[in-house]
Amino acid sequence: MKKISILGSTGSIGTQALDVVDRQKDEFKVCGLSANKNIKLLSEQIRKYKPESAAIFDESLYKDLKTSVNDCDTKILCGLDGVREVSANSGADIVLSAIVGIAGLLPTLDAIDNGIDIALANKETLVTAGKLVTDSAKKKGVKLLPVDSEHSAIFQCLNGEKQKSIKRIILTASGGPFFGKKRFELENVTVSDALNHPNWSMGSKITIDSATLMNKGLEFIEAKWLFDVEPEKIDIVVHKQSIIHSMVEFTDGSILAQMGKPDMRTPISVALNYPDREVLNSSPLDFSKLSALTFDKPDYITFKCLSLAIDTAKIGGTAPAFLNGANEAAVELFLNDKIGFLDIGDCIEEAIKSYKSITNYTLSDILTADKQAREKILQICGR
Ligand code: NDP
Repeated sequence: MKKISILGSTGSIGTQALDVVDRQKDEFKVCGLSANKNIKLLSEQIRKYKPESAAIFDESLYKDLKTSVNDCDTKILCGLDGVREVSANSGADIVLSAIVGIAGLLPTLDAIDNGIDIALANKETLVTAGKLVTDSAKKKGVKLLPVDSEHSAIFQCLNGEKQKSIKRIILTASGGPFFGKKRFELENVTVSDALNHPNWSMGSKITIDSATLMNKGLEFIEAKWLFDVEPEKIDIVVHKQSIIHSMVEFTDGSILAQMGKPDMRTPISVALNYPDREVLNSSPLDFSKLSALTFDKPDYITFKCLSLAIDTAKIGGTAPAFLNGANEAAVELFLNDKIGFLDIGDCIEEAIKSYKSITNYTLSDILTADKQAREKILQICGR
């Protein structure tokens, strides 16, 4: 039995991962769970999966959680330390890192430090501290198994291939809800318009990132670290149907693509079961019902977040961590109706102008860059 801890078990990825686990009851034992505030769902999960330990990040909810599961044997923890403890010490063979944002970085690093394989959904971990995380994983012999559908696709296309055979990685992007729109048409976009993703149902932060195309920019940086390729070797193509999840072009001109219906349970299953594949019973892709697979260039002018992210990937050092912090702060302001949709990219662009990246960074430099970025965004937005 593979023992698994799920960080962010109450979220979109976390709940879909538990659905995958439910279909393989004899193969997985859940030994750790964690959430931010949702004690109702976390309590239900504790009752159902009986993990060794579970943590609620929001310390004010610790007592309520403990009371609601006081007849269970699970060790209940709280705060960042509690989440880190679940990640590092609940006895897992694999940790699914599915917290949203840079909040996932320290717990993911803890699991790596303890030699535990990572199924990585939390892209912000590699965006903010890619070198540190990949160096640490190499040193500890830890597998970083991608859960992001694009990176899972690339991972599958690269299976058995040599690094030197990669000519180009082609990341596909759905284009989000505003594909084809120009800047003036996005001036009055509301939160609910931006949350209305055409193909995927996800948490609110990543859904807004998909609407601004920052998500593709973050994935660009994530791909650079996961597959050890220079930014010049990564291309982005808009593929509205989200059937091809990404592609790899090899030096001999062959292009491999991984395809399937947009269903996150597939890449989750690939990561959790690697190197095996298990039955998922997802509905089959009916090619006769696909009218077309289309490919377009991204609009880097309207969706400036994408260019900003690619620029920081090229700069390297702490620049991506600063970009990520600025983005998290700006998206939160947008979700709370404090700034408009276009302000997200404009504020990040303004914030990053004066930032000086630190090349050989430490973990503390990353956390400082994140803090500085958040402060700068609040200052720019006058909050
Ligand atoms: P959700 O917002 O749906 O879930 C986030 C999870 O993290 C919840 O369990 C939440 O708890 C928990 N959480 C939030 N903040 C904290 C914190 N400060 N400390 C501890 N736990 C916290 O996000 P998603 O599942 O959509 O995304 C998770 C990650 O996976 C993101 O990095 C995203 O980019 C990535 N990803 C997601 C995809 C998707 O399809 N959803 C696809 C590819 C990647 P609570 O419920 O209590 O708030």
